[in-house]
Amino acid sequence: MERILITGGAGFIGSHVADLMVAAGHEVVVVDNLSKGRREFVPALARLFPYDIKSQDTQEFILDWRPQVVIHHAAQMSVQVSVSDPPLDAQENILGSLNILQAAARARVKKFIFASTGGAIYGDEAPVPARETDPPRPESPYGIAKLSVEHYLHFYHREHGIVPICLRYANVYGPRQNTLGEAGVVAIFTEKFLAGVQPVINGDGLQTRDFTYVGDIAAANLLALSYSQAGIFNIGTGLETDILTIYQHLQKLSGSSLGPEHGPAKPGEQRRSALNCDLAREELGWRPKTSLEEGLALTMAAFREAR
Ligand code: NAD
Repeated sequence: MERILITGGAGFIGSHVADLMVAAGHEVVVVDNLSKGRREFVPALARLFPYDIKSQDTQEFILDWRPQVVIHHAAQMSVQVSVSDPPLDAQENILGSLNILQAAARARVKKFIFASTGGAIYGDEAPVPARETDPPRPESPYGIAKLSVEHYLHFYHREHGIVPICLRYANVYGPRQNTLGEAGVVAIFTEKFLAGVQPVINGDGLQTRDFTYVGDIAAANLLALSYSQAGIFNIGTGLETDILTIYQHLQKLSGSSLGPEHGPAKPGEQRRSALNCDLAREELGWRPKTSLEEGLALTMAAFREAR
């Protein structure tokens, strides 16, 4: 049993990670300022401290509680916000992460699992699906910040012995995803279908993403916990799915008769994205177990229930 601090554990992905860690018998504490997260997402057996990751409170808490493992999910996670306000993004995603890392070093944390990005780190020129060995050329301040933290983790490993595991997530979807962000197309369409409101597809809808179910993402975190070395792993399905296909699946699942409607394409939007995840399979023994059809059905059912 490990003492695990999960930042962002009241949010979409972090709360699923917290659920799995609690179920596996670990002692879990969540630090989340509830800017996007919800108290009710935190598992009953985990304690929640509503601190900001940039704060002195968080520093002191880490020094006092001395977790063995930190799983870092708290972040400013909008690419659009990072493009319009790079300093704000850096404040949250770089300085916030450094505040946690400094405290982790002083508290002699053994392992640091970091929610990085596979969708925003490789850039438009990388092959599809991208591998960890492809040079990262992030196009947005969000991707630049995630890559910076990966570099800082290498420094903290060498300087302080904290073992870093960077999980570069693909496009994650599932229950509890926020419908307000720009990234969660599954959540946004699901909510609209259930409300009887027409979802609008940006552009032709043939842009692709690697949609990965949140339960599989949480499972990768659990496997990372027992992996003893440092590593950087893509976590996705390796499959490209276009937005139009997502639309059609969700329309069917919701029973809606609203046919696809197209709006203007988003300027600068990446056309294709998918991650090669052979390394995670070989090293962590991880593979995605949830098919797109299953995952979308689980998501639709959970959103229906939450309404
Ligand atoms: P989310 O917004 O649901 O979760 C982030 C959580 O962090 C929220 O609960 C929020 O309240 C909390 N938070 C934000 N800023 C904070 C701060 N300064 N101090 C304390 N808490 C703070 O987002 P998510 O989709 O669950 O993303 C979790 C992590 O995974 C992020 O680091 C994100 O960059 C990364 N990620 C997500 C995806 C995806 O598809 N959703 C893909 C790649 C990487």
